[in-house]
Amino acid sequence: MSEELKIDTLLAHAGIKTDVTTGALTTPLHFSTTYQHPEFGQSTGYDYTRTKNPTRVAAEATLAAIEGADYALATSSGMSAIVLAFSVFPLSSKVLAVRDLYGGSFRWFNQVEQEGRLHFTYANTEEELVQLLTEEIDVVYIETPTNPLMVEFDIARLAQLAHEKGAKVIVDNTFYTPIYQRPLEDGADVVLHSATKYLAGHNDVLVGVVMTSDSDLYEQLFYNLNTTGAVLSPFDSYLLLRGLKTLSLRMKRSTENAQKVVAFLEKSPQVKEVLYPGKGGMISFKVADESKIPAILNHLQVFTFAESLGGVESLITYPTTQTHADIPADVRHSYGLTDDLLRLSIGIEDSEDLIADLEAALEV
Ligand SMILES: *Cc1c(COP(=O)(O)O)cnc(C)c1O
Repeated sequence: MSEELKIDTLLAHAGIKTDVTTGALTTPLHFSTTYQHPEFGQSTGYDYTRTKNPTRVAAEATLAAIEGADYALATSSGMSAIVLAFSVFPLSSKVLAVRDLYGGSFRWFNQVEQEGRLHFTYANTEEELVQLLTEEIDVVYIETPTNPLMVEFDIARLAQLAHEKGAKVIVDNTFYTPIYQRPLEDGADVVLHSATKYLAGHNDVLVGVVMTSDSDLYEQLFYNLNTTGAVLSPFDSYLLLRGLKTLSLRMKRSTENAQKVVAFLEKSPQVKEVLYPGKGGMISFKVADESKIPAILNHLQVFTFAESLGGVESLITYPTTQTHADIPADVRHSYGLTDDLLRLSIGIEDSEDLIADLEAALEV
């Protein structure tokens, strides 16, 4: 039934009518860590909350439905989702990853590379990725649009090529969300999110999610998550469900606002280059005079100078000292992440206020 419903309906109905005993409309918050067995040898389906929790199950059902996945696992953070996704690949697996990645992903990739657990090769462009995609590669890891340079990679093309070479494809879909991009339908094997960002949407909960329609992969992912325990708590599952209900509205509004902000930035003499893929709420731009960045950041009133993204309120980030500080400067500069770049996460405010704020700050 739910497969026939459109994504906006699935979101508005996130978690409703899940409690058959009381008929509660919204999902009850189940804090209990353990569950009574009706009789010896019997289970209600719930035994211990690390393994399965009704509030988390409701959140996972919505996540799976909106990504078109058969299975979803909600985790304690985006990073634990990434660690979980890689946990199913054997020691010494070879990973081919997009170069322009979230800084925290790069930091962890670097660590496991140094430990010799996994081996990473990075591709700056889609064509480079295609060239490097040999039979040696076990996993292709894509973040699209890239972060923070906002370059789109063609998931369907890369998934087809990867499968021809016997590699699995993991996509970090944090920036576009299933509103704009459904990687599993394009052939990816695993899609993951920092749901801390758009999916939860209110900068008040840390969440990750791993999704797949491959039952073998799911069995291993579930086993590893239950074993290691980085699951999403019941309360955070509830907050995620609450946030998901408005995902579609928030994404549309962020895009509308972002398109107006881009039109303003493109005309500003203080701006050298605007990086925007045409949709979504994320914009990067390079300022004409890099020395003004501290003054610009200090002058903003409506934008908040903070890390993170995807919430209802607009944020401005300086990747050089914040999200991407763990990528060595020479590496960052080599692929175009230069120190004149600022990243905006556009929220749902009135776009006129956002533009007036940027205009005043850029003129300092
Ligand atoms: C924030 C982020 C992560 C990490 O997620 P956390 O929830 O902060 O652990 C991973 N990927 C992308 C694209 C992100 O923006």
